[in-house]
Amino acid sequence: MGNIENAAQNLEAHGFKTQIFETAEEAKAAALKLIGKGSVGIGGSITISDMGLYETLLEQGNAVYWHWKVAPEERADVFPLAGSADTYLCSSNAILESGALLNIDGNGNRVSAMYIGPRQLIVVAGENKIRPDYEQALARIKKTACPLNARRLNLQTPCNATGVCNDCNSPQRMCGITVLLERPGIVKNAHVFLVRQSLGY
Ligand code: SF4
Repeated sequence: MGNIENAAQNLEAHGFKTQIFETAEEAKAAALKLIGKGSVGIGGSITISDMGLYETLLEQGNAVYWHWKVAPEERADVFPLAGSADTYLCSSNAILESGALLNIDGNGNRVSAMYIGPRQLIVVAGENKIRPDYEQALARIKKTACPLNARRLNLQTPCNATGVCNDCNSPQRMCGITVLLERPGIVKNAHVFLVRQSLGY
């Protein structure tokens, strides 16, 4: 695992407004404060799901767009609404201690929303996702995140069957688009919340 203080310092130096929290509850409270009454798009994320942010935002009356909460045939309509919301909320598959975010998407809706659309981006990640460099971050995604996601979604992929990535050509391959965010780009308010807990995968 990488060092959370180094990661925070380097992310901040690269333009990501970075804070360290002791617990997911504290990170949730800070996210809700930043979001206010604005609309929210959510990317696929066990971290965000486990934090109960979707439910709290609905209770507060925020407009929330999350493809996990609609029928499969409605997902394509939700992606652009989520990506252009006031705030986009997601996690990151891995955080590089050198100050970057590494993500692999199947469709690209989450990764594109992280750098194209929102006025505000909030990324919440547990310290279990921090790795010293790109190679170790990529290995973390392939060895940990992908097999667990494949199992969760019951995908017919080698990583589901064996726990090992073989760079498959399966019809259900979930590794389609890999993005390394080294700077926030045109997103002016890009926040990264690092939490001293193990969150998601
Ligand atoms: S490339 Fe295929 S086997 Fe490798 S992690 Fe992605 S879906 Fe799994």
